[in-house]
Amino acid sequence: MKQPLPKKFDILEVEEKWQKKWEEMGVYRFDWEDKKRTTFSVDTPPPYPSGEFHMGLVLNWTYFDIVARYKRMRGYNVYFPQGWDCHGLPTEVEVERLHKIKKTDLPPDQFRMLCEKLVGKNISAMKKAITNLGCSIDWTTEYKTMDPDYWRRTQLSFVLLYKKGFIYRGTHPVNWCPRCGTAIADAEVEYETRTAQLHYINFKLEDDGFLTVATTRPELIPACVTVAVSPHDERYKQYVGKKIHVPTTNRTVEVITDDLVDPEFGTGVVMICTYGDKADVKSVAKHKLPVITCIDENGRMTQNAGKYAGMTTEEAKKAIIDDLKKEELLENIEPTNQEVSVCWRCHTPIEILEKEQWFMKTRILSSQVEKNALEIRWYPDYMKYRLIDWAKSLEWDWVISRQRVFATPIPIWYCKKCNEIILAEPNWLPIDPRTENPRIDKCPNCGSKEFKPERDVLDTWFDSSITCAVHAGWPDREDWKRLFPADVHPSGVDIIRTWAYYLMVRHLALFNEKPYKSCLINGMVLGTDGRSMHKSFGNYVASKEVFSKYGADATRQWVAGGGATGSDIPFRWPDVEYGWRFLIKLWNAARFVCNQLKDYESKENVKCVLQPLDKWILSKAEKLTKKVTDALETCQFNIAMEEIRNFTWHVFCDCYIEAVKDRLYKPDFYGKEKREAVQYMLYTVLYRILQLLAPITPHVTEEIYQIMYAEEKSRKSIHLSPWPTLNEKHVDEEAEKRGDLIMAVITEIRREKAEKHMPLNTQIKKLIIYAGGKDTAEIIMEGREDISGTCKAANIEVLPKKGEGREIKPYSDIQFLAEY
Ligand SMILES: [Zn+2]
Ligand SMILES: [Zn+2]
Repeated sequence: MKQPLPKKFDILEVEEKWQKKWEEMGVYRFDWEDKKRTTFSVDTPPPYPSGEFHMGLVLNWTYFDIVARYKRMRGYNVYFPQGWDCHGLPTEVEVERLHKIKKTDLPPDQFRMLCEKLVGKNISAMKKAITNLGCSIDWTTEYKTMDPDYWRRTQLSFVLLYKKGFIYRGTHPVNWCPRCGTAIADAEVEYETRTAQLHYINFKLEDDGFLTVATTRPELIPACVTVAVSPHDERYKQYVGKKIHVPTTNRTVEVITDDLVDPEFGTGVVMICTYGDKADVKSVAKHKLPVITCIDENGRMTQNAGKYAGMTTEEAKKAIIDDLKKEELLENIEPTNQEVSVCWRCHTPIEILEKEQWFMKTRILSSQVEKNALEIRWYPDYMKYRLIDWAKSLEWDWVISRQRVFATPIPIWYCKKCNEIILAEPNWLPIDPRTENPRIDKCPNCGSKEFKPERDVLDTWFDSSITCAVHAGWPDREDWKRLFPADVHPSGVDIIRTWAYYLMVRHLALFNEKPYKSCLINGMVLGTDGRSMHKSFGNYVASKEVFSKYGADATRQWVAGGGATGSDIPFRWPDVEYGWRFLIKLWNAARFVCNQLKDYESKENVKCVLQPLDKWILSKAEKLTKKVTDALETCQFNIAMEEIRNFTWHVFCDCYIEAVKDRLYKPDFYGKEKREAVQYMLYTVLYRILQLLAPITPHVTEEIYQIMYAEEKSRKSIHLSPWPTLNEKHVDEEAEKRGDLIMAVITEIRREKAEKHMPLNTQIKKLIIYAGGKDTAEIIMEGREDISGTCKAANIEVLPKKGEGREIKPYSDIQFLAEY
């Protein structure tokens, strides 16, 4: 050990230094040439480049970085890629806001350029944050889904799925966000409970009298196609089959029965409109009812709404209520709580519109999704049901077309004359049909030479749901199956129904194989007030602030120790600060060890005389190794964290180092071999701690490793050192029992000094220990050197009987008397 550890320890400086060096040294590169080591691939989710790497992402990335680092040390050839899921609505909205324009104000390619510029800026901010978090990513793998080279893959997957019959164009009700002006998938619909007004409206029967319909959406009356009652509702039996007049229109419809009607809701009479909700969609299909569209893509009333045409839905609602009042058809209005479907992005209530769109057949895969979900390893296990239940709950296929600009184009044209669909050939890709013609002379159906492009674009999830294959090298590398399925797919609990689900159905459809072997789930980050962390709640903490205050290694300890994997984790400054203090403690301990090893010639087969406490710490270090290994194998990061921190802080620093100092300082008195025994232990156990900690706190462990161990261990980084395996030979229950007892004696004597307000180095003239029996007396005698040395006892007497004095906890039979 030639070089001492510096006294000054600037965590932020150390972290920045290693982040740079790791990249220069290529520590985290995947080795494509290496065919010996088993591969381990992480299906890193390409994040959406919002520009902000928030604490939720910190949680996410820390989890799988710990896994990647652990596996690398276990000897795997780790593939840890990073991409960016660029396309999407939020960027378009942000560009519109920044430039004070609408997407239609510019030609699509110019608008797209503004989006790309913004995304580029946001990516560099987020890349910096991922680097600052110390993630062991192989940056040579970086990709962006907005790049033409990625389009090529997305479009190829479209072409293949189309040819396999998984993709179709059809007219079907879809979820529509009128504000965003696009279709959205079920997974993008969220539910909110809102207070609404329930209107009781009289519908006149053609014969005589009326039925009272209860509805929260009177603006849909012009789209009413039938009035329904429950088949079991005796009150209305006589009206079934009768004609009834739809108010504000000149239409009549028939009263029918439908078992979807809840007799308890409102009056038990409902109108079925095209469409108010998903139940309407079902009823219309079941009874083969006509479709009257009265709301358009912008949320305005259509010509079908008669005099209300052109009004917004809100305006129409008011006008219709006024008209109903005038005609004395409005019976009553009362407030009600209602679950409203809203757009995930802008929280505008969605409409259900019948549209011609592109769909992927996903429901036919549901039983395969279930089968594979059960085969996959989930951390934690119960999360698999989130995926299974979601797949089973789906009623519609996945609508994959969007009416936006910044997205991957659909590689399709139509013949202008006969409307024949022209699908791009794989070797045309990437291609944008909006700017390029299909590479054929004429329509294969009618011979026409004129084509029109598909202007719709693909859902962003269509880009990001092929990452498992793309990461592996598909479609360019012949050996891509080497990295497929991915070994781990990490996901937030809130996006199992999107990310984990879409990956599953897309890869099953494309390759008839599951995309990942295991799924690692993280919970949400809660603010200091216990609510989920959100800018609008005032409980938001930016990762930048946390990094700049305490650094990444402290932040990562908060993640690892914050709670069980999969559970929500509250953000607490004291937890991060505790992590930071632990690093200081570790640094100071390492500095002490380093100073004591100046004359130490490390030899693995060093012949030293291990004392009871040496065997004790060695055995405990082996057991710790087993516990941490088991915890990391099962992604229980909080257990690994707790075990290492406890051992380092209390067992190693507070107990062992304190108890062996005297032996270290006085080789002339105790003998050189006994000092060597301590040196050997300090050297070995500290190295073990650093290795076990390396996946969680990669920077500080690397810094200490490089100064103290790199030369001897001859690995260029601690992160490439082999993970320690349990050495059964060193596990010694008897030695632990003995050591525990000796340590208890030392602790109790030091406690007495502290209670009497004496300095710990106060001399004890005479120390008598009543061991309570022969066996315990022997053990204490064995450790008497460390006891007297640590407690500064000039004279020590151990008696094999019970006596008087202060009890040594938790051994009720053992006491001591100290004469100061
Ligand atoms: Zn929206
Ligand atoms: Zn044609």
